[in-house]
Amino acid sequence: MRRESADVLRMIKASRDLSPAAELDRRAARAALLAGQTSTAHEPLLFAALLYRVQSEFAAAIDEAQKTRRFTGHLDADVDRLLPLSGGVIRAAVAHGPEQLATDARKRLGEETAIATARLLAYWNGDSSAREDYLSRALLRPYVEILRAHGVPPDRLHRQGHCPFCGGAPWISSLITMGDSEGALRLLICSLCGNEWNFNRICCPSCHEEDPAKLPVYQSDAHPLVRIESCETCLRYVKSIDLTKDARPVPEVDELLSLSMDLWAIDEGFTRIEPGLAGI
Ligand SMILES: [Zn+2]
Ligand SMILES: [Zn+2]
Repeated sequence: MRRESADVLRMIKASRDLSPAAELDRRAARAALLAGQTSTAHEPLLFAALLYRVQSEFAAAIDEAQKTRRFTGHLDADVDRLLPLSGGVIRAAVAHGPEQLATDARKRLGEETAIATARLLAYWNGDSSAREDYLSRALLRPYVEILRAHGVPPDRLHRQGHCPFCGGAPWISSLITMGDSEGALRLLICSLCGNEWNFNRICCPSCHEEDPAKLPVYQSDAHPLVRIESCETCLRYVKSIDLTKDARPVPEVDELLSLSMDLWAIDEGFTRIEPGLAGI
C-alpha cells in the first residue's frame, strides 16, 4: 500500500468517530433534507430517512445488549439475541416501504423464529437465492456496524472488490481528494457495514478487469457529480459520486437523486453490482 493511501485510510477512520446509531441518524437527516428539496426522488428519500432512523434505534439496542454480553461476529451464535430487537425495521418496511418491499416485509411479520433465522443466515453466507434480499441486508446492517465499531470481525467470506471488513458488496463509490496526494482517490462503500476503502480507479470491483478501454465511464449533464463506472467484460457497474467538487453529499443517500441514470444503465444492458436503497 502506498503511503498516502494509508494516510487517507487513517483520516477516513478518524472522521468516523460517531457511534453507529449516530452515524445512521446523520444519514437519516441527510435523506430528510434532500427529500424536502426534490419532487422526483421524494418518496425513495423519505423512505430512506425512515429506514435509517429505525436502523439507528436497532443499532442503539444492539449496543445496549452487548454491554451484558459481547456479540461474537458469528451470526449463527448471535442471531437469537438480534431477532427480538429487529421488529422496528420490518414494521417500517410494512408501513412505508414501496409495494413489493412492504409485501415481503408483511410475510416476515410473525414469521417463525427458525424461518427468520434461516433467511438471515442464507444472506450472511452469500447463498445465491438470498443475494437480492433487501430486508436481510437492512436488518443486518446495524449489527455489522456495531461489530465494526468494536473491532469484532464477522465470519463472512471475503473476496477482492468486496468490503475488507465484512465481505459486503460495494453499492456506491466516491472520488475524493486528499491534500497532496496525486489526483483523486476512489473509495468503494460497503452496503452491509458502511465501511469505505480505497480501490484502484482502473479496476472493475466485480470481475477485476483492468483494461481502461473496457471500463467506460458515463455522465449526464443533469447530474454532473454522478458517474456510471461500467465494465464491458462483466456488464456490471458501480455508481460514483464525485466529492472532489462538493464534499457535502453522503454518497449512499445522495445517489437516490439520480435513479434515472441507473434506469439508463440498466437499459444499456448493465447490472448494478449491488442495488442501492431504492432497490435498483
Ligand atoms: Zn462491510
Ligand atoms: Zn467487470
